[in-house]
Amino acid sequence: MNGKGGERVQPYEEVENWPPYTYREYPEVTVENIRAFTDFLKTENDVGLKMELQPWISFCDSKCTFCYFPNETFSKEILGRYLGALKKELKMYAETPYIQSSFFDEVVLGGGSPSVSSPHQLVDLLSFCQENFNLTEDVMVKVAGCTHNFNIEKLMAISNFARKVGARCTQIDLGVQTFDDKIRKMLNILDSADQAAKTIKKVRKLGLYACIDLMYNLPGETLDVLRKDVEKAMELGVEGVDFYGLDIHPETPLEKQVKSGKVPPIGDSDMEKKMYMEAYEMFEKGGYKPAGHSRFSKVKEHFTESCCAGWPWAGQLTTGSGCFMGYLGRFSYVNIAPAKAYIDVVAKGAFPIAKLSVDSKQDQMRKVMTRLYIRQPVDRLKFKEEFGLFPEEAFPKAIKRLKSKGLVEVDDREIRLTEAGDLWRYNIVWEFCRS
Ligand code: SF4
Repeated sequence: MNGKGGERVQPYEEVENWPPYTYREYPEVTVENIRAFTDFLKTENDVGLKMELQPWISFCDSKCTFCYFPNETFSKEILGRYLGALKKELKMYAETPYIQSSFFDEVVLGGGSPSVSSPHQLVDLLSFCQENFNLTEDVMVKVAGCTHNFNIEKLMAISNFARKVGARCTQIDLGVQTFDDKIRKMLNILDSADQAAKTIKKVRKLGLYACIDLMYNLPGETLDVLRKDVEKAMELGVEGVDFYGLDIHPETPLEKQVKSGKVPPIGDSDMEKKMYMEAYEMFEKGGYKPAGHSRFSKVKEHFTESCCAGWPWAGQLTTGSGCFMGYLGRFSYVNIAPAKAYIDVVAKGAFPIAKLSVDSKQDQMRKVMTRLYIRQPVDRLKFKEEFGLFPEEAFPKAIKRLKSKGLVEVDDREIRLTEAGDLWRYNIVWEFCRS
């Protein structure tokens, strides 16, 4: 333990794993708010920041027991129709003045597992994005998926596309979660740790970045398993690890299994902190630094990604069935799911939005403070210019409390997390959103 929150007096009883301002709280779409949104799309984007374009392929060929994403079982027939609807939705946005005056330096195929698609489908969708949106010359291309269905043909197709457009880097995001075969099986992850390692090696051999999800505090996981997971990730040389504490979400198969005693419970809050701190030290010693909301990384691109650096000023265009990370200006939205309903609405030429939030000034100020959970500073002067007051005038009690706990520091220019604040970054941003 080296003072990153582990050995000090604990500022909170439990570590929060979920940030405020998520799709869960957005209001339903109404005639008024959708009209305000479409009027907004008729304006020009004068923010001057690069954005992320994130089409979701909301299908998987199995369901991991912990997963709360709105993905569906994969079938070739529905995937074909879905991709047609996805392109139609993308085109609807691409034809608006707001998006025509926007520039994207990241294209991310997310979901779901885009790796269920064929090589041709992946390249077709990426090419569609290239043809219809202003991608920057140094665009980053990222494609997410599972280790069991990312074969060499798909990886080569993505790599060739990225080379053709001169991408600054190409990243394959892989949901590994753990290299422990017993736990993988329990979570319904289809392949073995050896198979996952083989896919990671293939990705890196092609010169692509491998960024893997690892989860900690899994049912029955010991510190020894955690250490082996972190060691294995570093031994494979992955460029980044998205390192998440497991949250058991309501209505997931895992919740039912834990309740019924079919799988062991997860560790308590002390165990969770211990695992995080131990992994933090291991990553640091291995040359990986904390980046974004949950990543440990050894490549420079992860420290300047527009999805983090630009939050919440830049905007992110997310499309596809059930997607819930899109936001443009004051609007944050969640799309309709399941896929069949999404396809029907898109076919009628309407934006397939189910929930839509129009942020108030207070919401916007709070969202700017949530930069802290993605380890980004809050620029005090920019805040004042935008909202007419400094953050410590908008949130005097919260900032005083966090400073006194040693979790944030403030200077003339900015407010940022301290090293001790890193572990508590979700708790910290809730301080601004509960007051
Ligand atoms: S592969 Fe990813 S998106 Fe699909 S069920 Fe598993 S965790 Fe969820």
